[in-house]
Amino acid sequence: MLPTLDKVVSRIDSFLEPEQVRLVKRAYYFAEQAHDGQFRRSGEPYVTHPLAVAEILSDMRMDHQSLIAALLHDVIEDTPVTKAAIEAQFGQEVAGLVDGVTKLTHLEFETKKEEQAENFQKMALAMADDIRVILVKLADRLHNMRTLGAMPPVKKRRIARETLDIYAPIALRLGLNETRIELEDLCFKAIFPMRSRFIEAAVKKSRGNRKELIEQVKLALEKRLQADGLSGRIIGREKHLYSIYQKMRTKEVSFQEIMDVYGFRIMTDSVDSCYRILGSVHNLYKPIPGRFKDYIAIPKVNGYQSLHTSLQGMNQIPIEVQIRTEDMEVMANNGIAAHWLYKSGSVASNLSHTRARAWVKGLLEMQHQAGNPIEFIENVKIDLFPDDIYVFTPKGRIMELPRGATAIDFAYAVHTDIGNSCVGCLVNKKTAPLSQALESGDTIKIMTLPNAQPSATWLSFVVTGKARAALRHYLKNRQRSESITLGRQFLDQSLASMGTQLQLVSNDRIAKLVSSSEFSDFDDLLEDIGLGNRMAFIVAKNLAEPSSDHPVGQMQAINISDSDSMTLKYAKCCRPIPGDPILGIISAGRGMVVHLDSCKNILDQRRDANKSVPLRWDAEMKGEFLAELRIAVHNQRGVIAMLASAVAAADANVESVTILEKDASTGQIHLTVAVTGRNHLSRVMRKIRQLKPLIKVSRSKG
Ligand code: MN
Repeated sequence: MLPTLDKVVSRIDSFLEPEQVRLVKRAYYFAEQAHDGQFRRSGEPYVTHPLAVAEILSDMRMDHQSLIAALLHDVIEDTPVTKAAIEAQFGQEVAGLVDGVTKLTHLEFETKKEEQAENFQKMALAMADDIRVILVKLADRLHNMRTLGAMPPVKKRRIARETLDIYAPIALRLGLNETRIELEDLCFKAIFPMRSRFIEAAVKKSRGNRKELIEQVKLALEKRLQADGLSGRIIGREKHLYSIYQKMRTKEVSFQEIMDVYGFRIMTDSVDSCYRILGSVHNLYKPIPGRFKDYIAIPKVNGYQSLHTSLQGMNQIPIEVQIRTEDMEVMANNGIAAHWLYKSGSVASNLSHTRARAWVKGLLEMQHQAGNPIEFIENVKIDLFPDDIYVFTPKGRIMELPRGATAIDFAYAVHTDIGNSCVGCLVNKKTAPLSQALESGDTIKIMTLPNAQPSATWLSFVVTGKARAALRHYLKNRQRSESITLGRQFLDQSLASMGTQLQLVSNDRIAKLVSSSEFSDFDDLLEDIGLGNRMAFIVAKNLAEPSSDHPVGQMQAINISDSDSMTLKYAKCCRPIPGDPILGIISAGRGMVVHLDSCKNILDQRRDANKSVPLRWDAEMKGEFLAELRIAVHNQRGVIAMLASAVAAADANVESVTILEKDASTGQIHLTVAVTGRNHLSRVMRKIRQLKPLIKVSRSKG
């Protein structure tokens, strides 16, 4: 039976404001126009599908925004209509809902790996920041399952598998029991048509035999309640096909054994009546020990509340009875959606959302009182209002990361070695900054290089403990080994000035020196020298053989070769670049700072042999260094752009530009450029000199 707009409208008329009904109608005409000319596989106009989804949600008495979103849910995906157009017509909230449903539709659930299913459920929930997105998606899926007949068999099975693994459990978690049961039976039929037909036929057959007995028990229960002055609505209940199948499989019981149990449900007005009815029922039939469950005092994690008991009826037949209030019955069937049911007057849309949140909060409290907070947090809170995101590896494995996690966190979560050799990343096949926060559903590929090294700057944006700890560990080790190397060079240099070298010093002497120090081994001592805490010159004097009375020679300059070194720092006052005469200044705890030999800031230290170290650039020095230029130009339109392209023409980068002074005719500009050394810098300056408006360019050294 095709749904019609009139049918839906007559239903929502009873619980929505006239203005809201008008908006729902408008959304229908909007969708009808957008999907014009599109048809479902079964031949009906496409718009019948969104209308049916809206009808399902109207049965749940959802708010008008959910209904509008249901009507428009396939519009972004299947028609040229954009999110912006929906926002212009129906507002930001509806557009957000439609966009959320579209994103979920894009998720390709790969259900081959069963252990992944639970993560997919979480991912789906994490992607929907508004619970209504999930409810629209569930209704969409329910209608697709109801109309699965027209699909080719392979596709049918795939959709059914996905629904059974992902969407039915989500419905269960949200307490949408009716939806869950219908989804499960539809999936069961699609995946196992033979088994489902067999069980269906068997249930029909046994129904006839059971009918009389069910009536008898029902009557007996009614009489007893009446005699005890209690009122309740009693219904006989049947298990759904999939749950019978599950029971047969997992508990290895026969069909007959399952059907031999007779189920009843009693609905009443208050919690108090529930317990009275329980007593009355236990009085009528003997309860089976150990089978009573009080889910009223201790609700299930999805909020389900009821009393469950098993009894021995006449002729020893087993009877299962559920007792609950009418309110609990509504909750048991509709779960979170039940919160849109109790609409009073004109409820603002976000109020119902607030109420849904309150529902979760209420669950939290109930669960807290039940003393089972861990299970609760696992199952409900994190899922509904997630602190976590779920992303894919290139092979489709799902990784769980905290919100705000970056590609570096992801890399370290995969493996420490991946993190340590990471040089870049692709997010959804596009290059992205390593510092960018990832989003649920993203696919991340990490690019690595064998000799790459992690950067200390990553510490400023990683959020996982694992990445942070691995980075700290790596950087600490690297700094230590660099400091040891530097300390050894300092010591050798000082020894050289005394006419000897470290290699010639006996191990005994070294051991003696170490034991007289506070260090446990020589490397610790070298590290201390490298860090600038201890003077190489003094240690050298202690190490040099007393007999050696060589004249004190000239200090040999130390080669520096790694611009990325963590131990070396380059002075910002004079900005030395390879090719410049340089001097190292040691300061306690900070290691060595490289200055220009001519830097005015080091006049005091340079005379102190314990604080200054002669240095020389390695011929193979790599990396980029910043140099500062002072430039005077004639004012002219586009002069900054001309400077920038001159720098680029010399293969260098502009790091910053500051305009220092400007008058009517001339300007003073401060330019910071990144170059590889002096030769490179002079090429840059040559290019700048060729510019017409140039008056003067010179390097500024502090
Ligand atoms: Mn759809």
